[in-house]
Amino acid sequence: NTARRTLLVTGGAGFIGSNFVLYWLSRYPQDRVINLDGLTYAGNPENLAEVEHLPNYRFVHGNITDTETVRRIFTEEAVSHVVHFAAESHVDRSILQPDAFVRTNVLGTQCLLEEARRQGNLTKFVHVSTDEVYGTLGEAGLFTEATQLSPNSPYSASKAGSDLIARAYYETYGLPVVITRCSNNYGPYQYPEKLIPTIITRALQDQPVPVYGDGLHVRDWLYVEDHCSAIDCVLNNGNPGQVYNVGGGNERTNLDIVKQLLAELGKPESSIRYVTDRPGHDRRYAIDASKLRRELGWQPQCMLDQGLKRTLDWYAAHTKWWLKRAAVPAEGRNGGERP
Ligand code: NAD
Repeated sequence: NTARRTLLVTGGAGFIGSNFVLYWLSRYPQDRVINLDGLTYAGNPENLAEVEHLPNYRFVHGNITDTETVRRIFTEEAVSHVVHFAAESHVDRSILQPDAFVRTNVLGTQCLLEEARRQGNLTKFVHVSTDEVYGTLGEAGLFTEATQLSPNSPYSASKAGSDLIARAYYETYGLPVVITRCSNNYGPYQYPEKLIPTIITRALQDQPVPVYGDGLHVRDWLYVEDHCSAIDCVLNNGNPGQVYNVGGGNERTNLDIVKQLLAELGKPESSIRYVTDRPGHDRRYAIDASKLRRELGWQPQCMLDQGLKRTLDWYAAHTKWWLKRAAVPAEGRNGGERP
């Protein structure tokens, strides 16, 4: 597909968004990318230093809840596709401040959908969601696209709300919405409040590394570039009105991940500190991504060991990037140490 497209990417200065913008512009250099980001604590335009001078890249500093800003973009630019990442994304913060999550994730998504509908000739609206909307699993089983939504945290509830309003814009107005629900991502540019960068950055500084509860919560890890390629498949070939699960089939307990990272870094397991568990902490996520593989031919490329190694190398080489962020007191995970 070589036709020139204009993508409105929201949250393109965040972790997955900036990986996506870099991925997209190197893979489709003929396309135009407009990055709308409010630059919360999680957004960092430095991530995009290598593309900021490109004539087909434009950064707009603005809030997705601001109708005027969003409308102006749809008026000024011939947007053909929206890829919507912008969100409050951290579960611990959602426990402390749920209102910001409802505002950005629910109202912000509705504002984008509404302005996209008014514009009238969008090719696709990719709403980037999470497997956390499904709630938690027991020892066995996988989330499929038909699994009931049972979100347990204010974060996942706000994402579930945004999925439903996105779905309604397809059913009611025929807006070509496609929803992706991805498992836990890791890789470069992830804010050091999330598990993997927390462990890496603390271990690199010889600090204790915190683990919630018994550490036996299971997550299904996906290297961020494989999430980008999944969105690529969905943007190009996904069917409007459909949901596609995205996951790497890499189920590991948090403790396994922590021990593997410590071993790679040559740090002792005695640096592990078990901290009070997060309230409402989902025990296990595992995702069935067979629809995306079967229908759109998606294939993840990066094995977990290789991805963890790449991520470690990136953090080790980008101390300046994370040091100023790690200095921000991380709520939740680093507090509440068990006596
Ligand atoms: P992030 O927190 O790193 O980045 C979010 C970005 O959105 C930041 O650049 C921030 O400035 C911007 N933003 C926040 N509120 C905004 C607002 N009101 N207006 C404009 N911009 C705003 O998040 P991430 O981890 O990159 O996640 C991106 C998306 O992917 C989210 O929608 C998240 O729910 C989803 N997701 C994340 C994961 C994961 O493991 N990180 C997994 C599945 C889905």
